[in-house]
Amino acid sequence: MNPQRLPLLESVFCAVSLGAIVLDGERRVVLWNSWMVKHSRLAHEQVLGRDFFEVCPGLRGGRVDAAIQHALYNNFPSLLSQSLNKAPFELFARGERMQQAVEVTPIAVENAPRHCLIQVSDVSFAVAREKLLREQAMVLRSQTFSDGLTGIANRRHFDVAMEKEHRRAKRSGTPLSLLMIDIDHFKAYNDHYGHQKGDQCLIQVAAALAGMLKRPCDLMARYGGEEFAMILPETDPEQARLMAESIRARAQELAIPHERNADASQLVTVSIGIATQQAQAPVAIDALIGAADRALYQAKRNGRNRVAAI
Ligand code: GH3
Ligand code: MG
Ligand code: MG
Repeated sequence: MNPQRLPLLESVFCAVSLGAIVLDGERRVVLWNSWMVKHSRLAHEQVLGRDFFEVCPGLRGGRVDAAIQHALYNNFPSLLSQSLNKAPFELFARGERMQQAVEVTPIAVENAPRHCLIQVSDVSFAVAREKLLREQAMVLRSQTFSDGLTGIANRRHFDVAMEKEHRRAKRSGTPLSLLMIDIDHFKAYNDHYGHQKGDQCLIQVAAALAGMLKRPCDLMARYGGEEFAMILPETDPEQARLMAESIRARAQELAIPHERNADASQLVTVSIGIATQQAQAPVAIDALIGAADRALYQAKRNGRNRVAAI
């Protein structure tokens, strides 16, 4: 090495925007660059020549210590990711403890025991961005699976849940019930009260009915328009009928006025069709939905505000 280049190298070492520390074979600090001075608030004269673990006592016995031993005695480099060691060094940036990625590399030195280089980079921004992206992904995911008007599960969510529960029912040999719930004379409601009131009604009914689910595996979704579907795993026809009957009653109890509901008490009511897949007679998903639809049609024909099963 041309000796004239040494001061240049030292300037570069000090100018880089990451922490650089060099330890000798006895783990004494030989170099501590300006970036480290700035963020650790320890000046060169406070660290140079001192034992590394006197300067950074918090790192003794930890992963950085192990990485240093690996580098000095086994000649192995190590990369400590920020997910396991968020902020090993006491370094600060923008008034907060900095999130760090740390790399420890062995360095061969002529006529002396091996040294090691510790590089510390500020990954606070990357970590914050990753957190933001994760949060955005969660929001997007929940938006993709929920209905924009009522906030309950949407049709896509229903399709995914139905596939899963249908598979699970076949595997575990348990019955699977499906309820199709449709608001009675809703076109007349819209015509009479206006579309906005119609929306309010849908929101209120959806919230009340979804609030009746007791088990995490049950799902109520907006199947389309003013029609809702409820998936009830491990539910036999009798239990499904009880559930459907309490849903029907609950909708009526909301006591939403519906002057044009000719069939009933001039309140908003729902009709419900039930289909159950028995463990011993599995059917395709389409067939189960078709059966619940037919049952719903029957409930409508029989006078609405009632439950029918196929
Ligand atoms: P039935 O008792 O036989 O179910 O009669 P219905 O009038 O409820 O059924 P129909 O299928 O004829 O009408 C459904 C109505 O639901 C028509 C449509 O305007 C209304 N609708 C569907 N989606 C929405 C919505 O998001 N908001 C509002 N306000 N109305 C909706
Ligand atoms: Mg309807
Ligand atoms: Mg309908």
